[in-house]
Amino acid sequence: PEIFAPERPNSVGWDLTHRPTRAAIESARAPFAASQWSAAPLVATEAETGATDPVSNPARPGDTVGEVTWATAQTVAGACAAAQPWTVSPEERAKVLNAAADLYEAHYGELFAVLAREAGKSLPDAVAELREAVDFLRYYAARADGPAPQGVFACISPWNFPLAIFTGQIAAALATGNAVLAKPAEQTPLVAYRAAQLLHEAGVPQSALQLLPGAGDVGAALTSNPAVKGVAFTGSTDTAQIIHRSIAEHLDPGTPFIAETGGLNAMIVDSTALPEQAVQAIVESAFQSAGQRCSALRCLYVQEDIAETLTEMLTGAMDALVISDPWVYGTDVGPAIDAEARDGIISYIDTAEGEGRVLHRLTIPGGGTFVPPTLIKVTGIAEMEREIFGPVLHIATFKSKDIDSVIDAINTTGYGLTFGLQTRIDDRVQHVSERIEAGNIYVNRNQIGAIVGSQPFGGEGLSGTGPKAGGPNYLTRFRKHPATEDAG
Ligand code: GLU
Repeated sequence: PEIFAPERPNSVGWDLTHRPTRAAIESARAPFAASQWSAAPLVATEAETGATDPVSNPARPGDTVGEVTWATAQTVAGACAAAQPWTVSPEERAKVLNAAADLYEAHYGELFAVLAREAGKSLPDAVAELREAVDFLRYYAARADGPAPQGVFACISPWNFPLAIFTGQIAAALATGNAVLAKPAEQTPLVAYRAAQLLHEAGVPQSALQLLPGAGDVGAALTSNPAVKGVAFTGSTDTAQIIHRSIAEHLDPGTPFIAETGGLNAMIVDSTALPEQAVQAIVESAFQSAGQRCSALRCLYVQEDIAETLTEMLTGAMDALVISDPWVYGTDVGPAIDAEARDGIISYIDTAEGEGRVLHRLTIPGGGTFVPPTLIKVTGIAEMEREIFGPVLHIATFKSKDIDSVIDAINTTGYGLTFGLQTRIDDRVQHVSERIEAGNIYVNRNQIGAIVGSQPFGGEGLSGTGPKAGGPNYLTRFRKHPATEDAG
C-alpha cells in the first residue's frame, strides 16, 4: 500500500539506567501516587450504563485506584447504533494517530502511575509498554489507507498489556478507517479510559472510538451484534473459541476474526550454550512481568550433560529476584493481576509440591496478590495440560540424540507462539528453526518483548489466527478486500 505519512522510527523510550532520566520519571510519576481515576462507557449517544465498582491495587490491598462504571448489553446496543466509520482522508487519520502518540508520551508520568497501581507493572515493564503503544500508533499511522474499512470493529483486549495491546488493536482498526468499539479487560478499565480520552483529545471522533468497560457479558453482547463487521481479540485460547462460535452464529459469514491467544512456550538449551547468557534469558523469559505474558517461557529443555550446573545457576539467579510492590524501583517481579489468578496459580504450585516435583520456590511478601516464582520438574512438555499464566517455570532434560523428539513434543502441544534456543552450533540453529512450529523464534536471547516493526508478533495453531501485530500484514484483515466482495 501507499505510505501517506513519512515512516517514523520507534519511540526512543526512557533509559532507566541513566540516573537523571530515572529521576525525571519518578518525579513525573510522584503526583499520581494517590490519584483516583475513573472509567465509564464512552458512547456517542445517550445510553444506559451499569453498576459502579471500586478498582484496587493488586500489590497493596488498601490502595484504591479509582472506580469503574460498567457497560451493559443496552450500552453495547447504543454504541453499535452510534458507530460511524472514520471517513476522513488517510493523511488526516495518520496525523491524528501520530498526535495521539505524542500525547501518550507527554503523559508518561501519569500513565506509568496508573500502570503500576492498576495493573501491577514495574517501571521497566511500564516503560516498555508505553513505548510499544506509541510504536503501534506511529507504525499503523504510517500505513493508513482507504477507503475500504470493514465498518465497525470490536477490539477486545487483555489486562496484561492494558495500554500496548489495547492501543495496538484500536490504532490498526482506526488507521484503516473503521469505527471501533473497544472492550478493555475488566481488570484494567482505568488505563484504557485514560488512553481513550487521549485518543479523543488527539482528534479521533467519539463516533469512531467508543469504550465499553465490562466483563464477558459485554464481550458477548458485542460479538453477537450484527453491526459488528470484524473482531480483534487478545486473550485466552478458551475465550477465543467462545468468540469464534458467537461470530459464526450471529455475524456475517466471513467476518474477520484476528485472535492472539495463549502459548505453551519452550526453550531448548544445549551443552554448547553460554551458561550465563542462557540463565539470564531464562529468568527474563519466565519471570519478568510475573510470567504474565503469552510469550513467556513455560517449559525449559536442558541437555542432560549440563543440567545439574545450569539448574544450580538458575536457582541462584531466582534467589536474586526482588519480589515487591511494582511502584518501588528495582522490583523484578510484581503481583498476579488479582486474587483469583493468584489462588489458581498457587494451588497449581501446591499440587506439584505435594507430588514432590518442585525444585525451587521463592518466598513472597505479605499483602498483595503475589505468587512465588517456582521451578517445577517435568519429564517433558506433554505433561503440561494448560498454560499457567504466572511465574512458574517447568524444566525437563534431554539427550542430544533425542533433540528431534523434543521438537516433536513441542509441536504436538498444538500451540505455536514463541520458542527460544540457546546453542553455539550454527547447523542446529538452522535445523531447529526449520522444524519448530512457532510464530516467534528467538536464538541466544530472551523470548519476550517483541518490537513493533522489526519483530512482528503472533502465533499459529492454538496460539492465534495471524496475521502478526506490528508487522506489514496486520492491517490487511481490517480492510475489505476486492476478493471478499467478489465472493460476496
Ligand atoms: N508482545 C508481547 C511479547 O512479545 C506479548 C504479548 C502478550 O502477552 O499478549 O512479550
